[in-house]
Amino acid sequence: MKTTQLKTFIDPQKIWDVIEKNKNPSKKQIEDIIEKSKSVKTLTPNEVACLINLKDEDFWQEIFKVALEIKKKVYDNRIVVFAPLYLSNYCVNKCVYCGFRSTNKNVVRKNLTLEEVKNETETLAGKTGHKRLIAVFSEHPQYSNIEYITDVLNTIYSVKIKTKNSYASIRRVNVNCAPLSIEELKLLKQSGIGTYQVFQETYHPKMYQKLHSKGTPKSDYLWRLYCMHRALEAGVDDVGIGVLYGLYDWRFEVISLVFHAIELEERFGVGPHTVSFPRLEPAINTPFVEKTPYKVSDEILKKIIAIIRLAIPYTGMIITAREKKEFRNEAINLGITQTDASSKIGVGAYSKNFEQQTPEIQQFILSDTRSLEELVRDLADKGYITSFCTAGYRCGRTGDKILSLIKCGKEAIFCKLNAILTFKEWVDDFASEETKMKVQPLIEKELKEVKTKIPNLYPLLIDYYERISKGERDLYF
Ligand code: SAM
Ligand code: SF4
Repeated sequence: MKTTQLKTFIDPQKIWDVIEKNKNPSKKQIEDIIEKSKSVKTLTPNEVACLINLKDEDFWQEIFKVALEIKKKVYDNRIVVFAPLYLSNYCVNKCVYCGFRSTNKNVVRKNLTLEEVKNETETLAGKTGHKRLIAVFSEHPQYSNIEYITDVLNTIYSVKIKTKNSYASIRRVNVNCAPLSIEELKLLKQSGIGTYQVFQETYHPKMYQKLHSKGTPKSDYLWRLYCMHRALEAGVDDVGIGVLYGLYDWRFEVISLVFHAIELEERFGVGPHTVSFPRLEPAINTPFVEKTPYKVSDEILKKIIAIIRLAIPYTGMIITAREKKEFRNEAINLGITQTDASSKIGVGAYSKNFEQQTPEIQQFILSDTRSLEELVRDLADKGYITSFCTAGYRCGRTGDKILSLIKCGKEAIFCKLNAILTFKEWVDDFASEETKMKVQPLIEKELKEVKTKIPNLYPLLIDYYERISKGERDLYF
């Protein structure tokens, strides 16, 4: 369908009206919302607006607690980990906030050949131990066309690399790229895409036009707004959405994102698989980032994360190494379920062992450069298990199927078991002796929990666990 025929589901006046109408939420209203959230129920836009307008800091402390409660109920103590893989920094767009914009003369342009994609994958899978990547593409007819994207996916999946006990490979590749057509998305599906991720950047149509120059492909607001509809129609049923915080008023963005989730749920019976929370970071020769009047503080971003956890409680939530370590640690206690580690976002930076920050080839500057091993240990200190699980989509547990399994608690069981098994694989293959000693009590605690809470699956878990100890890999529920 041509974008001129599409009718937007984002009505700015309606969104401002919702915010205005709920300007002064009563104590009773907030208490009711908190109570409702405790039973893991989706919130309405009016309820979300009440939270957005809430000033009382005591209530906020309670909301933060409830956000963690919900997360624990749905996702237990697991954090799924991944790494970004940037394929190219050639871009035809002129997004004012991005280091890769075509008009930025300070960026050294580079794209990866398939041989280089293989090298990057070998480093990520074989040296660091990642099992899940997000392949990130800028927009360029040569370096982000569908043939190249599918070739990249096929190349990543083809890599199998020897480790000290066995072999390693990437088992799930998510993709963040420009909005695609249904035909292109079908090809992505055939290549085994995990989640298709596109951020709307800002849902505000006028601001969107201001930030994305007329005549560039990205200036088509509706084409972007409807890309997840196309993905779901094409059978790619894990979709990831997000706002780039700092471009426009966060209150408008949060309500809009909730409307987006509702729209997908109503039309396709499934909401977003993940919601990401990127916030503007400095980028080389990109003064917009410092000048924007819509900067979002740490305090506000914490509230945004908690609001989304309450509003769409079953969604996965992602925070990246854009954020400082301290902030990421806090965000994990507010509802975040996935994060990256050992990230290098310079094109080709993993296999060539570039410095972790190489601003002239990066889209923006990272704030947290912790290695995967450091992250694993930090999480273990807080009682979180790092999950490398990629079983869901490989067993057809995606989209509405996974949603209903999550809702009835079955997915949580599979995820718990697979988190233990994949963590064990990583520890055996990649952890130092010191890390092994540090995380062993956590693994034992998890095993004990399975024994008491899911006794029927415990024998099989132990069987898989022991086989993994002997070098077998990729055993999952
Ligand atoms: N080029 C594709 C697109 O624009 O849809 C793929 C995404 S881009 C490589 C990944 C995301 O990075 C963008 O969607 C945007 O939200 C985010 N981004 C861009 N500039 C940023 C900056 N200065 N700081 C933080 N995130 C940024
Ligand atoms: Fe290109 Fe994406 Fe950066 Fe825009 S955000 S300039 S489309 S890479």
